[in-house]
Amino acid sequence: MRKWITAGLAAAAMLCPSAWSEDGGLKVLFLTKSSGFQHSVITRENDAPAYAERIMTDLVEKDGGTVLNTKDASLINAENLKNYDVVVFYTTGDLTQPGTDGTTPMAETGPQELLDWIGAGGGFVGFHCASDTFHGEGDTVTPYIEMIGGEFAGHGPQFFGKVGVKAPEHPCMEDIPGEWKIKDEWYYFKNFNAENNRVLAELDPGEQVAKAEGDRHPAYAQGPYPIAWCRAYGKGRVFYNAMGHREEVWDEEIFQKGIVDALHWAAGEGDADAAPSPKPAK
Ligand SMILES: [Zn+2]
Repeated sequence: MRKWITAGLAAAAMLCPSAWSEDGGLKVLFLTKSSGFQHSVITRENDAPAYAERIMTDLVEKDGGTVLNTKDASLINAENLKNYDVVVFYTTGDLTQPGTDGTTPMAETGPQELLDWIGAGGGFVGFHCASDTFHGEGDTVTPYIEMIGGEFAGHGPQFFGKVGVKAPEHPCMEDIPGEWKIKDEWYYFKNFNAENNRVLAELDPGEQVAKAEGDRHPAYAQGPYPIAWCRAYGKGRVFYNAMGHREEVWDEEIFQKGIVDALHWAAGEGDADAAPSPKPAK
């Protein structure tokens, strides 16, 4: 009997390494390098941790895990990624270039090493400007954008949007109310990967739609569109939430619970439940 239990645990450990790792906690790398636009929420002043870094550290440590906050994109390499369960991006631009913040860039091979790591079972979580990273030229969809599932196309002025959960039973949505009204800077997208993405939540531009023509940003003159989604990527898992421009969003308990849920899901806990959303009937 004892032998059987040991064998069972060993098998579980192979299937779900993070849940059975020695200290039991998630190991998270949070990359906030800005090769393009630098957001205030990840800007460090006098080398103190940035706003979002403090919150991420607090959340992961209270959850029993460890987090490395970094702007050094060269840490995204095959050897170093072996040390982590989940990589979180709040980044902009071509991370193989020093760019706006001048911090250490990724090696040329870094983007592919990241994708290979995810494909082999790694967890990737992107917030907000993670989709404003590694753009293609013209209509080209880069392998990174294909992976994250959508490409930042622009945003208008900030407003109170209505976030409608489309997959309430999904582990990443467990702590998000069915309808959540919150002020943020709302991205809209191109190159949405409908072949692979499971839509978890949509943004209803609400008040922006109600505004008179000429008074609203034209991009929001549409019905609800995907704002958070997930997908399987080889043996790995990818989660993206376009929210998180404003400090006040990071302060929200709902947003924070959603971060922890997404980290655990990305680390391989629970069902992937990532079958692509059915396409709307034509
Ligand atoms: Zn922003």
